[in-house]
Amino acid sequence: MFDLVLKNSKIVTPDRIYEGNICVKDGTISAITSLSQEVEAVEVVDVGGKLVFPGAIDTHAHLNDPGYNWREDYEHGTAAAAVGGITTVVDMPLQNDPALTDGKIFDVKVEKVSPNAYVDYCFWGGLVDYNLNNLIELDDKGCVAFKSFIGPVSPDYVSLTIGQVREALEILKTVDARAGFHCEDYSIIKWEESRAQRKESITWEDFLNSRPLIAEIIATKNILDLARETGAKVHICHVSHPDVAEEIKKAKQEGIDVIGETCSHYLTFSREDVISKGSLFKCAPPLREKEAVEKMWEYVEDGTLSCLSSDHSPSALEEKSEEDHGIFGAWGGISGIQNVFQVAFSEGVVKRGYSPTILARSLSEGPAKAFELYGKKGAIEVGFDADLVVLDPEKEWEITPDSLKYVNKISAFVGLKGKGLPVMTFVRGNVVAKNNEVIGSKGFGELVKKIK
Ligand SMILES: [Zn+2]
Repeated sequence: MFDLVLKNSKIVTPDRIYEGNICVKDGTISAITSLSQEVEAVEVVDVGGKLVFPGAIDTHAHLNDPGYNWREDYEHGTAAAAVGGITTVVDMPLQNDPALTDGKIFDVKVEKVSPNAYVDYCFWGGLVDYNLNNLIELDDKGCVAFKSFIGPVSPDYVSLTIGQVREALEILKTVDARAGFHCEDYSIIKWEESRAQRKESITWEDFLNSRPLIAEIIATKNILDLARETGAKVHICHVSHPDVAEEIKKAKQEGIDVIGETCSHYLTFSREDVISKGSLFKCAPPLREKEAVEKMWEYVEDGTLSCLSSDHSPSALEEKSEEDHGIFGAWGGISGIQNVFQVAFSEGVVKRGYSPTILARSLSEGPAKAFELYGKKGAIEVGFDADLVVLDPEKEWEITPDSLKYVNKISAFVGLKGKGLPVMTFVRGNVVAKNNEVIGSKGFGELVKKIK
């Protein structure tokens, strides 16, 4: 007798979609049977032929906890994840006070956030110029990767020089750990910012021009060169443009262990949105031209961009104020953890005709493999955690502030309309959200570490 059966499922894998019943016992998938087979379970959920995806893993989210809870916290951030179909959040080490840079801080963070998580979570470890001696300790503690900047960063964190990146990669290589980078060249951006500041009036085009594509390409190439030299594993965060994806594709073909990640906003919005709507659409790297958006989908489909994340980067509305802070001073970052799945389905599958299978890969399998969670997370296969998302492909939606579970109910995605919505989310066989409402219990979410 099983604990739970999801009957009449259309099971989405990275390769195919097929019909079956998903049978769960003790939180893991223990059988997948054909529709005609009789199965007994304590709880039977008839999915009625809707799509069932493996739970999504958001590889890039800033939950801001502990330290900046007026922007976001675990309770609200993981509630939003649950209703949005994300069953594991890989949380960033910055916009934390203190930033997650050593083992002691790791323990404090676990204690602080674990009573409040609705879904499972992992930690990115900090990688800054003062903690190279703590990287191995953080790897031992369970950080799944290390996050660094080689471009400008917010005041609570420190970016690395290329020399420091090289030493960090040498250290991480000894424990086979992966380093992820925000790739925008520091000197180009700082120089372009100072050029813009000398103008009499600054426009949103000036902001966009201050973070040119070449800055992202140069920084990405530097990281790929160092990965080639050191043999270390790298991850290129939030790729915004197909030319950057192409560099990653070539490096992969060459045998470099590199993961390409993009975000739902780079697959949906363009620089015209920044120009016409302003700071809610400000992020870094910035949104690019419309043709780039179309081409980005091709790199998701071919697997070059194997992780599709939110880069959930929340702020208070006041911090987004152009009037108070100016175009360059207004908060850069887009809140998206709740909507990444539905937006990717609507924009990719409904609007552009891609197969739902590309989302099983970029939201689940790719992330799980990148962070060494595969085997436990990332697929609908026997033995894996029963992290499952039922998606109604016919359900139409419009994103409203009221629907958002965030501390701050603001997002570039508010007002967006589409079709196809996660309607039920299961974490380890337990339903945590249904029809945009959280029904799981706070503290159920567990810290997940790499499978070594
Ligand atoms: Zn980020």
